[in-house]
Amino acid sequence: MDIAFSLDMKDIIDPEKAYELFWKGIITNKRNFECPDENCSAQVTCANIDKLEHNMKQGVHYRVIGKHSELCEFEALERKLTTELNNGKVRNNPNKKVNFDNFHLKRPDDYYKKKGTNISNLNFSKIERKRNLRNSYIESFSAPRNYYSIRPIVTKYLKLENHNNNFIMIKGKSLSYENFFSKISTTNFNDINEYPQIYFGEAYVNILENKNIQIRFKDGFIKNENDRFKTSIFINRETLELEKNSYWKKKIFKVADSRRCESKFFIYGKPNEYNGYVNFNIKNLDFLETRNNLP
Ligand SMILES: [Zn+2]
Repeated sequence: MDIAFSLDMKDIIDPEKAYELFWKGIITNKRNFECPDENCSAQVTCANIDKLEHNMKQGVHYRVIGKHSELCEFEALERKLTTELNNGKVRNNPNKKVNFDNFHLKRPDDYYKKKGTNISNLNFSKIERKRNLRNSYIESFSAPRNYYSIRPIVTKYLKLENHNNNFIMIKGKSLSYENFFSKISTTNFNDINEYPQIYFGEAYVNILENKNIQIRFKDGFIKNENDRFKTSIFINRETLELEKNSYWKKKIFKVADSRRCESKFFIYGKPNEYNGYVNFNIKNLDFLETRNNLP
């Protein structure tokens, strides 16, 4: 299942958003989900929602506990939509040949707000609500997705087989997934793009004397045939403290403690060279991501 109805948010959301909301403390229980079909209340659990990436074998995903109602049409609907999409049939736009997603550099103000605050516990309103949400899900199934952090973009990149058929739109400019991602260890710093993009590589985390955080890449950008730039991401301690998302605090300190080069970091930005060092300065932790595996 790609989506589920969150009983906390009163909204249909995907597992990536559920993960973010869990670590913000808005979703408190991984079992607080159910099937999105209005005639079905099969309980759904969001597996791995409470784990840090390096403890996950599989990514965050929904799993149905128990059985769908006999009247439930959701699984059949999801199969049908996926088949249509894979066959290139794109609802409302038969000419569309490629898929693209929007990456917004700022979250909307109501991103973390619960929807429909006047929803009571009466089944009737929940059923109505699920029906409306389900219909809008069908409408928007093949429409561009809106992303506010690099997390779902990294997930999609790692899943995609063809990075050239999928595009990311940022401030009206479109880039293929292929061109949007670069591995630091195989990228020559002289050839980097003018615009910010996602860079990734294996890295260590150091807590500096001034309490700021340094994420140092094992292999930096290529300088020339024989040399590399030492490449790091710097996070101001204040940025980390201001971040309500406890995920990053736990993650950073856990990696720093382990002293092993076991974390793979992704960062959206444009690096600067100064005195032979190449650095990224990061103010927004939505532009940082870690994973178990690298492409
Ligand atoms: Zn169901």
